[in-house]
Amino acid sequence: MNEKYDQLQTILTELAHLEKAVGVLGWDRNTKMPKGGAKARAEVVATLNRLHHERFTSDEVGKLLEALEPWAADQDADSAERRTVEYTQWAYERQTKLPADFVVERTKKLSAANQAWQTARQEADYTQFAPHMENVLDITLRLADFFKPYDHPYDVLLNQYERGMSTQQVQTLFDFVRGHQVELIAAIAEQPQVDNSFLHLHYPIDKQLKAGEEIVRAFGYDFNQGRQDETTHPFAANLGYGDQRITYRADEHFLNPYLFAIMHEAGHAMYEQGIPEALWGGILYRGTSSGVHESQSRLWENLVGRSKPFWAWYYPRLQAHFPENLGNVSLDDFYKGVNRVAPSLIRVEADEATYNLHIMLRMEIEIALLGGEFTVAELPEVWNERIHKYLGVTPEDDAQGVLQDVHWSWGLYGQFPAYALGNIIGAQFWGHIEKALPDLDAHIAKGDFKPLHGWLVDNIYQHGRKYPPGELIERISGERLNGDAYVAYLKNKFGAIYDL
Ligand code: ZN
Repeated sequence: MNEKYDQLQTILTELAHLEKAVGVLGWDRNTKMPKGGAKARAEVVATLNRLHHERFTSDEVGKLLEALEPWAADQDADSAERRTVEYTQWAYERQTKLPADFVVERTKKLSAANQAWQTARQEADYTQFAPHMENVLDITLRLADFFKPYDHPYDVLLNQYERGMSTQQVQTLFDFVRGHQVELIAAIAEQPQVDNSFLHLHYPIDKQLKAGEEIVRAFGYDFNQGRQDETTHPFAANLGYGDQRITYRADEHFLNPYLFAIMHEAGHAMYEQGIPEALWGGILYRGTSSGVHESQSRLWENLVGRSKPFWAWYYPRLQAHFPENLGNVSLDDFYKGVNRVAPSLIRVEADEATYNLHIMLRMEIEIALLGGEFTVAELPEVWNERIHKYLGVTPEDDAQGVLQDVHWSWGLYGQFPAYALGNIIGAQFWGHIEKALPDLDAHIAKGDFKPLHGWLVDNIYQHGRKYPPGELIERISGERLNGDAYVAYLKNKFGAIYDL
């Protein structure tokens, strides 16, 4: 083993520890922390992030990387050593472009923006958030400028989440998928609507949590290495080897928000529970990109959790939890009910057929704001106009419109495309999983998720961040990322449900 590589690993491990400390503080802030702690917490996190940034961008790391470059190039292309050096080099180049005082300023402004967003959203009052949104836009543009020259400022932002993907590539893919989805939604609108009123009865939350726990446990989520807690905007948190937590929001009068979100978050958490301990402490100990991460959460939520074989197994159990609500609802009606297509205002509650349009709207707005096509003050108006154009719905207030997502308040510009990419990537993987596991549906219909979970561990989870998203997709499917499998999946599934 190379001595310099060991030195690099020692530094990367210290940095991983700092990251996990920030992670625990973030988990706490979103689940348990009293509101009064926000200011101090922001200061603590800013300091830890500054220490992380200073250490990672130090000359010491730069020199180690320079010395290791020729050695790494001689290592096996699939080795963790070579991939660690390559990934660290890529991240180092990105991080060294950002001055330390800019990083501190950004963290502080984003913390303030997030606090303001929470109140603004509660009070459905965009004017409280607007000055902070100005700050977010300004700091995002300045961030992109550190990476000049670029083809498109959005490339810089997108690459934070999808290493190696370009704005052009994503726009082309989205244009293809959008056309098919718009057509599908129009055809569905002509058909009689399916009934899902039974999902809106009274569902006591303790029973919902029990059902959710049964389901994700069966999927393979390990509660010895995780737990579920309540929050406002569900997320999964990797707090270090052996500790991948999930969070939820539940609605007593609607079964979907909890049930499908917990499958989704468990999908994220299982991905990282499946990364081997050998990678813990290193820079590869994480899912490879936001889009691939979303492919994993959506695979469990939609391709499994909204499928017929899944409900053939779980529906009798769900009925046993809620006999008064579901005792007289058939499996087929339930399956159709949880797959009801209805254009709506809230992204996180959108059905599979309309979901991607919510994302495309956000990506389009992000690019237009960066380009100065309209102002931050005009944002709610633009939002309302476009959501009406795409989905035929109009928000009653900004909480149902432009204020609904946490992302912009955290400066997570460029991350939204990952959600639609996740749907598309998941379907591309699924086609290959079905070939590798011909009895997949029969196993799922028995509640046996081991073959599927095992395939995901072997082909995706165990690699952590070793392969960039494009490379992982090609390794698995033998093809470049494309929308064919996803479009075919949607047409098949909803064609059957809506008799198209
Ligand atoms: Zn997700």
